[in-house]
Order: sequence, then structure tokens, then C-alpha cells
Amino acid sequence: MLALGLLKTAPAEAFNLEGKGTGKHIIILGAGLAGMTAAYELKKLGYKCTILEARSRAGGRVWTVRKGTRETEIGGEEQTAKLEQGLYFNAGAARIPHQHEISLHYCRELKVPLETYNNINEAGFIYNDGEGALANKRVRIREIHNDMRGYTSELLAKAIDQDALDRPMTVEDKEVLIEYLRAEGELDPDKLYKGTPRRGYTTPPGAGNAPGKLADPYELSEIIRSGLIGHSFYNIGDYIYEQQMTMMQPVGGMDRISDAFERQVGKDIEYGAEVREIRKTTAGARVIYANGSGKVKEIMGDYCICTIPLPVLSGIASDFSSPVLRAIDSVAYYEAGKIGLQFKRRFWEEDEHIYGGISRTNMDIHQIFYPSNDFLSKKGVLVGYYNFGEKAVKVGDLSLAAREKLALEQGGRIHPQYWEEFEASFSLAWHKTRYSQGAFATYTSDSRERFYPALLQPDGPVYFAGEHTSYLTAWMAGAFESARRSVRDLHARVMSTQQAQAEVKG
Ligand SMILES: Cc1cc2nc3c(=O)[nH]c(=O)nc-3n(C[C@H](O)[C@H](O)[C@H](O)COP(=O)(O)OP(=O)(O)OC[C@H]3O[C@@H](n4cnc5c(N)ncnc54)[C@H](O)[C@@H]3O)c2cc1C
Repeated sequence: MLALGLLKTAPAEAFNLEGKGTGKHIIILGAGLAGMTAAYELKKLGYKCTILEARSRAGGRVWTVRKGTRETEIGGEEQTAKLEQGLYFNAGAARIPHQHEISLHYCRELKVPLETYNNINEAGFIYNDGEGALANKRVRIREIHNDMRGYTSELLAKAIDQDALDRPMTVEDKEVLIEYLRAEGELDPDKLYKGTPRRGYTTPPGAGNAPGKLADPYELSEIIRSGLIGHSFYNIGDYIYEQQMTMMQPVGGMDRISDAFERQVGKDIEYGAEVREIRKTTAGARVIYANGSGKVKEIMGDYCICTIPLPVLSGIASDFSSPVLRAIDSVAYYEAGKIGLQFKRRFWEEDEHIYGGISRTNMDIHQIFYPSNDFLSKKGVLVGYYNFGEKAVKVGDLSLAAREKLALEQGGRIHPQYWEEFEASFSLAWHKTRYSQGAFATYTSDSRERFYPALLQPDGPVYFAGEHTSYLTAWMAGAFESARRSVRDLHARVMSTQQAQAEVKG
């Protein structure tokens, strides 16, 4: 049917604008995804683009650390990745939701192969550092999930039987709901939860005389008192819209996406160009920057698209309007830290049967992410912590060696193999990373209302883009969508000016 044209292909999120911007020069600040996407789409429309990028690389927060990657945080020590050739660690963006059609569109258009990113794995562990019979030991996620499904289903079934619900229900509805709870919690004929094969075995089934031995459920009170349903262990992956499966990742590292854009617009990027000043003039935009050798230069453009993250932009001189300046200074950014840990052996696969997914803990490391690529190969890189807010600040304030020690000590309580198998680490505190100074914008309803609108309007010739100018903050899709929005608005202005000039001449 596809071949006959009777069926539409998958939505491609194509971006087709009418008219040409030939002769107009656009200065784009930042060669992250927003900046490069804006240039890519503008060039299709005939515009000349110059991208000023402070770093010596493109991609911004899409950054894959490999052997030899170097970084020095603000006030930090120099770090060089000692990862083995072929291994990598996505220090920024790592996973693509299946709902982010725009991210998938650009992977399709720029031919970036994707593979499944296993975001949810019931074989992962939860580990509560605290009191209780199940605390200070690792417990499989599937055991707690299935016990809790069982116990909560049993409790609700009892409440229905005892007419203890405050909402009136018909007899037929009650029957249907009870049947659902029976299936959901795997309750016995008396509607009691007594355990389930779903939570796994102490001895797995095999051939011959080996039916397997089921593991007994934990007591509900034990689970509660051991802190295993505390907020560190909420079912983030299952419940958050964007984190539901299927998720994807580029084969070989997230920087395959930024590399693909760089192949399209790389010759328009001036690397090592640190923007120092942004000015509006009668003719357009004037940007002053220091180039790679520290020489101060100036560039003029008809328009400018600024994608610089707000905490960095806040330190750059400009003549922006007061609402824009207020927004730049007021929108908060989240702190986040990540560490990549290279191990000699994939013990999480070989010993613990964990293939991708996440373990969670209330310790400072917060989460351990297992790689979704190259299963069964010899070595691998785990994300040894991915933490936010206070935990990220606390760990980010440590020296590189102390961060590594903390990751090994805390992670080693979940995986004792850490000490034997560890080889190398590379850590990042995004709030201390030069030219980012934060992981992602985080709006409250108040800051959305008070500050966000100012960033959606051009300030004279300057347009704002970047994940912080979207409702998809913390996602690459936010950068892509924002780039398109700024290109659409800028192009519409150029077209209407052209039309007005043509009418005057005519
Ligand atoms: C830890 C972490 C995890 C994430 N996980 C995911 C994920 O799993 N999936 C997902 O889709 N997204 C994820 N994201 C979000 C995603 O990475 C971002 O939303 C996206 O990359 C932002 O792109 P951007 O172009 O808006 O900004 P940036 O990538 O920050 O680009 C801005 C550019 O401006 C440059 N710049 C800064 N200052 C100057 C200056 N003075 N002069 C010139 N240039 C300058 C920077 O160097 C940078 O290249 C994650 C982000 C982080 C930090």
C-alpha cells in the first residue's frame, strides 16, 4: 500500500517554509543542537549563517566522552578520559523518547542509526541506606514492584468487599474492579496476596527434575519500614510520559547526532569564539567575541539567534530590554552530576543478569545506569551516578578523586564487584561546566508566567532559542523545536519586509 501511495509514511515532521532569505546574514550564538538546527534549516532557505561557538567542539550538552576527552570545570582540575578505545560515556543527553518525533525526524533525515535504550529493567536493584530488615541490602526492583502490586490490590479488594469506599459503585462495577485487582496483584481465590512467580525464583527452573523454587514475598510492613517505597524509589521510568519504553539511542554514542549536524553546518562554525557582548543596531545585530587566540573581534548580521544557556548569558554584556534581562537572570537551572565508570568485566550482565536499565538508591549516587549497547562484550562503562539538586551540588563540590571514591564506595555496596573490576572514571558537574553552568532550565508555573514570554519575542534583531525556550526543557526535542520556532518567526519577518519593500517599489 505504501508503494502504491495508498498509505501515508510515518509522520516525518518535515519543516517546509516558503520563500528565500538569500542575501541575509544570521549570526547564531552557540553550536549546540538548537544553534546547528537553526543554521541547518536557515541554509535550506538560502540564508548565510555564522555560528559562534565558545568550545572547541560542537554539540553543547550533547556530549559523548571517549578516550582522550578533556575537560576542566570552573574552578576545577583538568581531567582526561582514560576510557578504552571504543568505549564511551554520554555525559549529557543519553536517551530519546519514542514520542519525540522531531528528534527521530532529524536522526532519520541525517541518517543516524538508532538502537533500543532499555530505560526500564525490573532486574535492576533498589538499595535503601537506612533502618529496617530490607535496608542496607540490594533488592530486585521486580520483587518490590510485584509485592506492592499484590498488597495494594489486596487492600483495595478488601475495601470494596467491606463497602469501605466513599464512592458509590454498582455491584457489576465492583465485580469488574475486583477481577482487575485479582489479575493486577495476582491475588489468590480469597483475594489475598501470597506471592507470585512474577517476583522471581531463589532457584531458577531448569531441565529434568528442576521445577525451580519461588522466592517468598516480603512482608508489607518490612517493605514500608525499610524505606523501599520512599521517594527515591518511585517508579519514574514506568510513569513519566517521556521515560516509558520504547526509548532509543544512537548506535555508538549520542554525539552521532551532533556530528551529523556538524557535517551539514560545520564550515559555518567558528570554534573557540566566546561571545562577550551582544548589541542591537539600526542595521541589525553586532556581536563582540574573543576568538581562539584571545583576540577580540566583532561581527555584524541582519539578525541573531542566541542559544546560549541563560546562566552563561547572564554574564554577557548586552543592551537587551529589561523584561529579557529579568528573564535571563531569573529562570532557574537544575544542577546535575554524572560519572562514567569503566570496568574490566560486565559483571552486571555476567553475574547479575542486568542488561540496561537503572538501579536506584537514596545514597548520594542516586542512580546507576547500565549500558544498553554491546551486550555480552567484555568491558563496559556504567553511569556510576546521575544525581540532581542538593546531591549533585554536594558531590560536584568534591575533587575528582573524591567523586570517584564516593561512586565506588556507594556503588560498591550494591555491586561488590566494583573494587575488583574498576578501571577508570570521568565525572561531570553540569552546574560547574563552563559554557553550560547548569543542566537544564527548570520552570515553576510562576516563572513560566512571569519570565518565559519575554524569551519568546525577538528583542529587536535578536531571537532566542535553546531548550530553555520550550516546554520540553531537559530534552533535545526542546532544542530542536525551539530552533524551528525561531527560524519560522525570523523568516516570516524577512518575508514580510521583502513583500513590503516590493510593494513600495511596485
Ligand atoms: C545531564 C544531562 C542529561 C540529559 N539527558 C537527556 C536525554 O537523555 N535525552 C534528551 O533528549 N535530552 C537530554 N538532555 C537535554 C539536552 O542535552 C539539551 O536539552 C540540549 O542538548 C540543549 O541544546 P541547546 O542547543 O539548547 O543548548 P546547548 O547544548 O547547551 O548549546 C548551547 C551552546 O552555546 C555555547 N555557548 C555557551 N556560552 C557561549 C558563549 N559565551 N559564546 C559562544 N558560545 C557559547 C555552548 O558551548 C553550547 O555549545 C540532558 C542534558 C543534560 C545536561
